[in-house]
Amino acid sequence: MFKGWLCKAPQDLILSGQGEAYCKWCQVTLHAQKHDLKVHCSRRIHQNKATSLTSGKQEKLIDTGK
Ligand SMILES: [Zn+2]
Repeated sequence: MFKGWLCKAPQDLILSGQGEAYCKWCQVTLHAQKHDLKVHCSRRIHQNKATSLTSGKQEKLIDTGK
């Protein structure tokens, strides 16, 4: 479920309390707790990255942010 995008956060970010995990796709640090990771997973920005990265080709980015 968390494969492909989740890795360990850089040490300096861990030490500064920003989180222990890191999303390679969104380039954000996350707290290494299942709940936090799940919440991040369901984020639109993450879903968009997942779609464009796993479909193998760049889909049209439709901005439905409003
Ligand atoms: Zn992400």
